[in-house]
Amino acid sequence: MPQLAADLTQITHTPLEKIPSSGIRAFAQRIDDIPDLIKLTLGEPDLNTPEHVKQAAVQSILANDSHYSDQRGTLQLRQAISNYLQRKQNLTYDPKSEIIVTVGATEALTAIALSLFQPGDQIIVPTPSYALYFPLIQYTQAELVAINTASTDFVLTPQALKNTLQEHPQAKAILLNYPTNPTGREYSEKVLKQLVPIIRQSHLYVISDEIYSELTYDCPHVSIARYLPERTLLVNGVSKSHAMTGYRIGYLAGPETLINLIAKMHAFMITAPSNPAQAAAAEALENGDQDPVDSRHIYQKRRDYIVQALNEMGLQTMPGEGAFYVFAKIPAQYKNDDEAFALDLAHKAKVGGTPGKSFGPGGEGYIRFSYAASDADLRKAMSRIQKFLSAEVVV
Ligand code: PLP
Repeated sequence: MPQLAADLTQITHTPLEKIPSSGIRAFAQRIDDIPDLIKLTLGEPDLNTPEHVKQAAVQSILANDSHYSDQRGTLQLRQAISNYLQRKQNLTYDPKSEIIVTVGATEALTAIALSLFQPGDQIIVPTPSYALYFPLIQYTQAELVAINTASTDFVLTPQALKNTLQEHPQAKAILLNYPTNPTGREYSEKVLKQLVPIIRQSHLYVISDEIYSELTYDCPHVSIARYLPERTLLVNGVSKSHAMTGYRIGYLAGPETLINLIAKMHAFMITAPSNPAQAAAAEALENGDQDPVDSRHIYQKRRDYIVQALNEMGLQTMPGEGAFYVFAKIPAQYKNDDEAFALDLAHKAKVGGTPGKSFGPGGEGYIRFSYAASDADLRKAMSRIQKFLSAEVVV
């Protein structure tokens, strides 16, 4: 491959140079070539996109729907999102001024950070959390204020939030994600109602990443936007709910002034998402309420199975109420070195999991397994882990 000429190397001196690529993908690539590895690493539904949704994409192509859509997304899809949020969460958003269709939840989060985060802004993140949040904060030179939730069952408590706000009274935003990647924990209505008055008394606006909202098993998902619509940026999409990660459709809903600002950045970044993907997402949200219900039954059975299997092996885990991850404590003899455990598991047991430290403070000493994998693979993986643990007598 051609190398950059010596006098051009300075072009790489940008803030990006110092930001590591995703630790999760980097680790997955490190173990990717191990023969016969069962990968419980990446957060991707293994289920197929529903037929009626695929057909909508095909019809869009056949109808020569090949021109740029409105930069904020087709009105059909924005209307479908608005109706969906009304139906599911009793939230009212004007499709014309309060919703942007994005390229996955990822673009929504990136556009928010690039539009709103200023150098020195303090952004509160309960951790362990989705790893994308860290580089976004670092790149914009904002300051990460992590609240380690490991000692409170991986849920942010009102007390922890109060303490943090006392220490950081000027904090600008809180970035919530629930159901949570990597722990699967869901914030119940009761917990939200305790957090809301504290947020209301602060300067915080809320970025609420609810991409797993359709995948909750023990309680229905309640959006924090129900209580704080005037200061919440709600991020969601169809990637996980309708097994459409590759279609790349997410969205952002919130107060008009913030949306107008973010819409500018969104237009710089992508102009607009692709039309067939938008047509498919509109079909998913208009006529696909049953699809996540079907997926939920499948994931819930897998969750129950994997949690029980891991607990029986002595790998302590608490059942998350949503998403498709379990976060298990690694054996004591690894002394919190989750990467060493994940590497041993990959090389010796041929099961891939993600080291907990990739998810920030509180993740050390844990491993994340994704159960978005077939029943057969999950059973084989559990049996391999069990054999590995008994051979090593590590528990
Ligand atoms: N937010 C969280 C918490 C996630 O776990 C993921 C994907 O794993 C995303 C956002 C990205 O979603 P999308 O594929 O829609 O960009």
